[in-house]
Amino acid sequence: GGKKGSLGIALVGLGSYSTYQLAPALQETVNCHLAGIVTGTKEKEKIWAEKYGIPEKNIYNYDNFDTIRDNQDIDIVYVVLPNSMHAEFSIRAARAGKHVICEKPMALSVEECDAIIKACTDAGVKLAVGYRLHSEPYTQEVKRFVKEKTFGEVLYVSAEAAYRSVGNPDQWRLNRELSGGGALMNMGVYSIQSAIYSTGQNPVAVTAQEFSTRPDYFRDTDETITAQFQFPGGAVGNIFTSHNANANSLYASCTRGWFSLKPANNYGPLAGESANGILTFPHQSQQKLQMDDFASHILYRTENRAPGEMGKRDLIIVEAIYRSIAEGNKSIS
Ligand code: NDP
Repeated sequence: GGKKGSLGIALVGLGSYSTYQLAPALQETVNCHLAGIVTGTKEKEKIWAEKYGIPEKNIYNYDNFDTIRDNQDIDIVYVVLPNSMHAEFSIRAARAGKHVICEKPMALSVEECDAIIKACTDAGVKLAVGYRLHSEPYTQEVKRFVKEKTFGEVLYVSAEAAYRSVGNPDQWRLNRELSGGGALMNMGVYSIQSAIYSTGQNPVAVTAQEFSTRPDYFRDTDETITAQFQFPGGAVGNIFTSHNANANSLYASCTRGWFSLKPANNYGPLAGESANGILTFPHQSQQKLQMDDFASHILYRTENRAPGEMGKRDLIIVEAIYRSIAEGNKSIS
């Protein structure tokens, strides 16, 4: 049931992120609430309807999804599907006149990102990428350091976002057709994001390397990638992403000090330090903050913290990294 001034969200794809993060967070949000579900798994309909009091008229599958157009309870469609389905469902949601949150990575290619952005522009609906960290206080403090030049100019940044994957080798994340790529598409976007908000600039050049140590497990997708960025102001940066090793941090060295977050990109609480001391902020669900921020953007015209252009920018960098790897690197001997 919708409270006054609270927008209805429909989650599309009831996998682990929807089940364990987004739906619980939507019990705490104030500007939006869980109003509907879209699922391809019949058994989930009843489980979710009972657990969250979702009326039958707000339950859709992937075939009848477009009729969501006629449903006044749904204001926002949140696409939480495997990456290869992001563009299709974001575009269908926009054409149904609904605002869109699309999970990261925004799509498989820059071309798909453009198509999503165009569909949302044409339909006059708002679009955000599920970059929860932009609503998170430690990340916002880093962005403030950069904006206010608290420690002077950023000269060097290092960012890691990686975990060791040991689960089912047939999972969609390791299937290129469904994921569009391995570690880089999954965790790599966080390290790209960190490098950019820690410098306040988009990189202008990149070199990159790919490493594989478990080819039997990673048959189809990249296992480990390192990349080096050059920023227009002269700063340089390194990123590391992997499905083979755990890593989760950012560090920036500046003309008059430094700052770091560790961890930098999990569900929190994050932790951080700077040349001025330890950072401390109260913890709240990042997903709650993120969805409330987007609903506030729609309701009250506050900032869209993670617009579609940001997701597209990151895919431009992802494509440049894959191109650099394909061009090859010189061996030492
Ligand atoms: P899961 O595999 O847990 O869930 C995906 C769901 O998509 C499935 O449960 C299913 O839902 C639906 N689906 C439809 N077609 C397929 C298919 N061919 N193969 C697999 N699933 C299918 O994935 P996650 O929930 O972990 O991730 C979903 C998206 O969210 C990804 O884009 C991921 O990158 C992003 N994500 C973002 C996070 C963040 O912190 N921002 C964290 C985790 C994920 P149903 O049964 O309802 O049809």
